Amino acid sequence: MATKILQSNTIEIQSQHCSCIKNILVIEDSLSLLHSIKENLTKNSDIECDAVETENEAKELLLQKSYDLIILDLYLPDSSGNFIGFLIRKKQRILVITASQNEEQRHKLVSLPIVDYLYKTDHQSTINYLKNAITRLNRNKDAVVAICDDSKTARMLMKQLIMNQNLAFVEFFDGKEAFEYVVKNKHPIDLLITDVNMPKMDGFDLIRHIRLQYNFNELPILALSGSEKSSMVAQLLKTGANDYISKPLYNEEFLTRINMTLEQSRLYKENQALIEKLQAMATTDFLTKLYNRNYFFSTIKHVQAQAKRTNYQYGVIMLDIDYFKKVNDTFGHDAGDFTLVEIAKTLQEAARESDIVCRWGGEEFLILVQKSTFEELCNFARRIRLLIEKKDLVLDVDALTFHVTASIGVALGDDNIEAAISTADARLYRAKENGRNQVVCN
Ligand code: GH3
Ligand code: MG
Ligand code: MG
Repeated sequence: MATKILQSNTIEIQSQHCSCIKNILVIEDSLSLLHSIKENLTKNSDIECDAVETENEAKELLLQKSYDLIILDLYLPDSSGNFIGFLIRKKQRILVITASQNEEQRHKLVSLPIVDYLYKTDHQSTINYLKNAITRLNRNKDAVVAICDDSKTARMLMKQLIMNQNLAFVEFFDGKEAFEYVVKNKHPIDLLITDVNMPKMDGFDLIRHIRLQYNFNELPILALSGSEKSSMVAQLLKTGANDYISKPLYNEEFLTRINMTLEQSRLYKENQALIEKLQAMATTDFLTKLYNRNYFFSTIKHVQAQAKRTNYQYGVIMLDIDYFKKVNDTFGHDAGDFTLVEIAKTLQEAARESDIVCRWGGEEFLILVQKSTFEELCNFARRIRLLIEKKDLVLDVDALTFHVTASIGVALGDDNIEAAISTADARLYRAKENGRNQVVCN
């Protein structure tokens, strides 16, 4: 077992070989179940699985190698009665499966530092459950759980349970220490579990402080609450805890709440990432990575309002590459694409940060220029025309260099953006008619 130290200073993130679950030992005396488990867990996955029917065979294997997870049937023909204790002492991650639904036994099991236990029903349900448990353990491998509690015994107990779930762990003595860590490290924590009564800063203040910066999903918090005061739980939830865990700890409740809270926060983060990706896809052109028309129309109202408020003018520059069809015909479609990307880069580099450069259509571009007089707008357009004319387009394949030019139409904008665009378009058309490679401003 390795303790990884991911952060220096006095506070360490510790993990019990937080890794993918790749190596599993199944100990089960029902041969048909044993084979089903092995077959299903290894099918279409890179999991390696040793399968044995007896304790003695398991002990032999454990002398030679270690496992990321042990799936253990509680009753084996050669049960010594203390095998699970032996595995716990060896710091093995254990998932118990048992056919006996005995309350006394359940009580014993949940008091042990094991991953989970399962009552065996039909093969398929057992296998589904095991697969879900492994997926959960694998997802946990990237997560860090922080415990904030002034009781060392409580921290030790929770640490063992947390590490068993393939989660990394970091501990704090009181709220102040935890809060400073979160602020300093921009919260590299996926879940915070906090006690209420602590010196320096108590649980309520800690939750309040964190909630000023991070919401329920960004940094979920579970509060440890003694049951002596029933109003306490309500107050903790109102202050910003996602949920609470009763003290003294019931391992099963503790682990279920941790897993549920982490899963919720994970889903939120995955959804956020997906939304951002979809937004980027909906507003950007795939080839050039410039904004597209969608983005232009979603932002123009804001630009117009700002122009009015600040008494500045704004304008549009419409640009179309000349004889672009010839580029495709002469050098191929890939060279055409390459040209579009290079011209996009040229425009983006020439533009100011506040300008919005869009790919308007095929080989047509539009630049929305904020805070600009008519003269500045025309000068900018002339500069762009020159940059394009001078740009060497070098094809990697045979180091062939070619050039393109562009025709440009310019117009100042007002409340009616459609009118500005059609004016710029008409001027672009005149630039083409007048012989191309030129800017028409009036
Ligand atoms: P003009 O000077 O009048 O603008 O002539 P042009 O050849 O540039 O204009 P035309 O509209 O006749 O042809 C534009 C060509 O641009 C035709 C089309 O296949 C090509 N095109 C449009 N989008 C893309 C693209 O994404 N990649 C490539 N390689 N070509 C494209
Ligand atoms: Mg063209
Ligand atoms: Mg065209």
